[in-house]
Amino acid sequence: MDLLIVGSGFFGLTIAERAAASGRKVTVIDRRDHIGGNAYSEDEPETGIEVHRYGAHLFHTSNPAVWEYVNRFTTFTDYVHRVYTNHKGVVFPLPINLGTINQFFNAAYSPSEARALIHEQAGEFDVKDAANLEEKGIALIGRPLYEAFIRDYTAKQWQTDPTELPAEIISRLPVRYTYDNRYFNDTWEGLPTDGYTAWIERMADHPNIEVKLGVDYFDVAQPLNKKATVGQVPVVYTGPVDRYFDYTEGALSWRTLDFEREVLPVGDFQGTSVMNYADADVPYTRIHEFRHFHPERADRYPTDKTVIMREFSRFAEREDEPYYPVNTPEDRAGLLAYRELAKGEKDVHFGGRLGTYQYLDMHMAIGSALSMWNNQLS
Ligand code: FAD
Ligand code: UDP
Repeated sequence: MDLLIVGSGFFGLTIAERAAASGRKVTVIDRRDHIGGNAYSEDEPETGIEVHRYGAHLFHTSNPAVWEYVNRFTTFTDYVHRVYTNHKGVVFPLPINLGTINQFFNAAYSPSEARALIHEQAGEFDVKDAANLEEKGIALIGRPLYEAFIRDYTAKQWQTDPTELPAEIISRLPVRYTYDNRYFNDTWEGLPTDGYTAWIERMADHPNIEVKLGVDYFDVAQPLNKKATVGQVPVVYTGPVDRYFDYTEGALSWRTLDFEREVLPVGDFQGTSVMNYADADVPYTRIHEFRHFHPERADRYPTDKTVIMREFSRFAEREDEPYYPVNTPEDRAGLLAYRELAKGEKDVHFGGRLGTYQYLDMHMAIGSALSMWNNQLS
């Protein structure tokens, strides 16, 4: 074995694929019973509808190198992601655009009238100096829209006061003074034509790659554990960074999700793939309806049944899956301490969403794995 990779998500698999293609022998371990990390999907058995087990995954990128790379393993459909939100029982389009603004204010503002109104309502804070999510949200869209669509949704999703959250989280959501309600601004977007699992399996399908599932790196009873491998073989570690160091610098805070999946006896439940619930009195943040991710499969999917999934968010306890780094000021201090420790680990390379404690989309995880391979490992 030339390289041990802990975690078979997109970060680990990209490194594995690149290493195998250049003649290295690679072993990938994952504690789950499937590869693909959080992007894993499977056909719901009763309906055959592809569901994303760990929450809806939409691929999008503006990075030509990443786009070229992912197209080696899959083609993409022409799916364009659009999200709606339910506020006080009325449905509005997201991200906040001229349609949302006019519906909310019951008006027919032109782009420049809407800009002037939001400018007036956003005067308390300046986007450039916004110190946290709340200030940035108000600076971008003004207080009334912030309170309707962002404040309670964010509080439900992060269970942290928005004044404690970094402003960057909200930078992901564009604000538009047109009726364009594409959720993403990227050059390319789509869903893998044959599903995520087919894509992921093709990345791992190489004689130089050995995958071992159900294997935890910290289980000393299995031979490829941390003690037995660090210093013996180069390691790429994509699990949680605080777990690697046994939480010596404190536990970093993560958000986890609970998903409630249901098959309903109707052909169409909500008419769209993702409906957010903006208000505090609805306990879930959103409902996914998977058939709408693949309209091109209409002739394969049943017309009298549909699969929905409600998403609930809460703080992760030790035994939960850590999904989103919360990134409070204390977390950022802890992360710096872990980065110092990481420098002392002989030939261990920390990567991916969990290994770097960063909010990474798939294209970012793949892009940073390609950089790590090209600049450090190859
Ligand atoms: P992961 O996919 O988390 O893989 C890490 C792997 O390491 C896991 O399989 C885990 O089991 C394994 N592991 C951890 N600890 C150990 C251990 N001790 N021993 C062995 N194995 C271990 N990205 C998008 O681009 N678009 C989206 O719409 C999108 N939606 C998302 C929705 C949700 C709910 C979540 C959680 C993420 C979403 N993402 C999305 C992000 C996407 O999932 C990540 O970018 C991608 O999974 C990153 O891959 P990764 O390899 O870094 O981590
Ligand atoms: N957000 C919000 N209201 C919404 C959608 C998003 O306040 O209806 C905020 C929220 O803080 C969220 C962030 O914007 O964490 C990023 O949203 P995105 O949909 O990208 O989050 P993800 O899909 O990664 O959970």
